[in-house]
Amino acid sequence: MYDVIVVGARCAGAPAAMLLARKGYRVLLLERARFPADTVSTLYIHQPGVALLDRWGLREPLAATGCPPINSALHQVGDIRIEGWGLPVAGIDVAYAPRRTVLDPLLADAAASAGATFRDGCSVSGLVTEHGRVAGVRLGRDATVVRAPLVVGADGMRSLVAAAACAPTVLEQPRKTCIYYGFWAGVPARFEAYGAAGRWVCCAPTHDGRTLVGVYFPQDEFPQIRGRAERAYREAIAATAPDLHRRLLSGRQVGKLYGHGTQRNFFRQPTGPGWVLLGDAAHHKDSISGDGITDAFCQAQLLADSLDGLGPRGLADPAALDAALHRYAVAQQSLLLPRFQATMVSTRLAPHRRLGALAMIAADPVRTTRYFTGVAGVDHAIESLVNPLSPSDSDVLATVGKEVPT
Ligand SMILES: Cc1cc2nc3c(=O)[nH]c(=O)nc-3n(C[C@H](O)[C@H](O)[C@H](O)COP(=O)(O)OP(=O)(O)OC[C@H]3O[C@@H](n4cnc5c(N)ncnc54)[C@H](O)[C@@H]3O)c2cc1C
Repeated sequence: MYDVIVVGARCAGAPAAMLLARKGYRVLLLERARFPADTVSTLYIHQPGVALLDRWGLREPLAATGCPPINSALHQVGDIRIEGWGLPVAGIDVAYAPRRTVLDPLLADAAASAGATFRDGCSVSGLVTEHGRVAGVRLGRDATVVRAPLVVGADGMRSLVAAAACAPTVLEQPRKTCIYYGFWAGVPARFEAYGAAGRWVCCAPTHDGRTLVGVYFPQDEFPQIRGRAERAYREAIAATAPDLHRRLLSGRQVGKLYGHGTQRNFFRQPTGPGWVLLGDAAHHKDSISGDGITDAFCQAQLLADSLDGLGPRGLADPAALDAALHRYAVAQQSLLLPRFQATMVSTRLAPHRRLGALAMIAADPVRTTRYFTGVAGVDHAIESLVNPLSPSDSDVLATVGKEVPT
């Protein structure tokens, strides 16, 4: 009945389902949670992620939910203050930090509007395999079988699809940081980050006039901090970000403090016969760079581009599907690897060792713009992903793509 089954309906799965449904594939999108459902996240979407939302026709609907646009930033380490913003990507020069209870249903609704069948409250319990290929999924306790030539695992860091398909981990670094964050009312803010030895404090405005304020600590402090998290959180803000701390004193914290101490850093092999992994299922990294949502969007777009021109008949042809998945795997790794390495540097929580370089950036508007363009993750690879190629270039690329796999 279906050409593609997508497991997981958040930042990776829902856009993938939407894009594939728009291409005419019959898509089933399955989600264990009942939406709207919150998830642990500091919410920030860099400009390339917003540019993809714009390309998909979803930026304006997101803005219409009352999510404040972000277009200026402050990074401070000691006395050095870098203030400015990056260059636009595909004409987009804003970031957003939407609540996931708003963003994720908006994405899932867009998939359903594109023609995908969306079922939330529906848990995948296993994969169906036939002749050495994944050929569908089993649902729920009674293990009802639903078939499709392609199963997309967009089911997060602890992916069942990855485990059931025996996707090997091809690169892994130890856990580097842990984080605590909360929401504040009456604290106006832009995108701000404050660094010191072993601490990284960040904040961004989100829905309902709230500001998210987070603190990163070294992972090896997690066992001590978790027992006194509220105190450690406030002490770190007071010591690292005194200016922000003053503003917090005239606002109020709303709701509980959220913590996360199991942020893994890995790449899994992203594809195999009849299956592909997207988002955190394929690649997870420390959230300090605020990239996971943008990475998930990029992978959804890359998969849709890689399957371009295949059509339902091509999808049912194992050789054609494997070649398309190979194209996806190569593009995915070359897009994500450089930023993974840069993030591993940030997780050392040692901005105080770069004071000379940061002072030079702060003193020079051109360097400042380049710095914030880098913070947003804008590079050539991401620009060509969010800027659709002209038709003639696409034709050339399609011809080149037929040469793989080797
Ligand atoms: C503390 C923290 C802060 C973060 N801050 C940011 C940030 O500021 N900016 C940013 O870009 N990223 C951030 N991230 C990362 C970002 O949240 C993730 O990268 C992103 O949510 C990944 O989306 P995903 O769709 O791949 O996976 P997920 O969001 O994990 O969604 C997977 C979905 O699959 C469903 N699922 C799982 N198993 C099954 C099953 N068997 N059957 C059916 N459904 C299933 C789950 O219910 C879930 O809804 C942060 C992460 C953490 C932990």
